[in-house]
This record gives sequence, C-alpha cells and structure tokens, in this order.
Amino acid sequence: MKQKIRKGDTVEVITGKEVDKGKRGEVIKVLPKKERLVVQKINLRKKHQRAVQTQGRQLNPGIIEFEAPLHISNVMLVCPKCGKPSRVGFERTEEGLPVRVCKNCGKEID
Ligand SMILES: [Zn+2]
Repeated sequence: MKQKIRKGDTVEVITGKEVDKGKRGEVIKVLPKKERLVVQKINLRKKHQRAVQTQGRQLNPGIIEFEAPLHISNVMLVCPKCGKPSRVGFERTEEGLPVRVCKNCGKEID
C-alpha cells in the first residue's frame, strides 16, 4: 500500500483540537488499518494510573500523559525539502519504484 505518511516523518496538525493546531511533531507510530497515527507530543491525553504490580515492578500511581492516535486527515506532511506542510503525490523512479513527491516544491521526499 502506498503510504503518504510514514514513521519518522514530521507532520503539522491542520485541524482538530485547538491546542494542537499548527503544531509539528514526529510520527512515532502509524496505524494504517485505522488510518491513524501517533505524533510525538500531539493529542496528549492524561490517564490515571493506579498502583499496580507488573512483572515484579511497582508502577507508581499518578497521572501519566500519553499520545492518542490522530486521524491521518488531521495532519499534513511537512516536506523536508521546503519545510512546508504539503500534499504528497507519487511518482516512479527510473527503476520503477514509487517515491513520494512534494506537490509544493516538486522535490522527491524519500
Ligand atoms: Zn517541498
């Protein structure tokens, strides 16, 4: 499957929660089937952690923050070449391999 956004890419939040809009972050996880991705420090949620014992380790109770997945349509890829949130197209190299192309500056992303 052609994936427009991959792990390690930088994305900008274009829609969604006001606190996250315009923020950029690195994609740390892609969930292709759900069309969602997890972006570092974006869409932070808080979860109350009870004191639990797992594998002999004691987890302290308290509030932990974690990144909740965002829908892929809420973000745009930040092109590493021009630095702008850009639409992504696909082209083929001379070897016939698909490469991502920035529709803003026209340069290959991969
Ligand atoms: Zn570009």
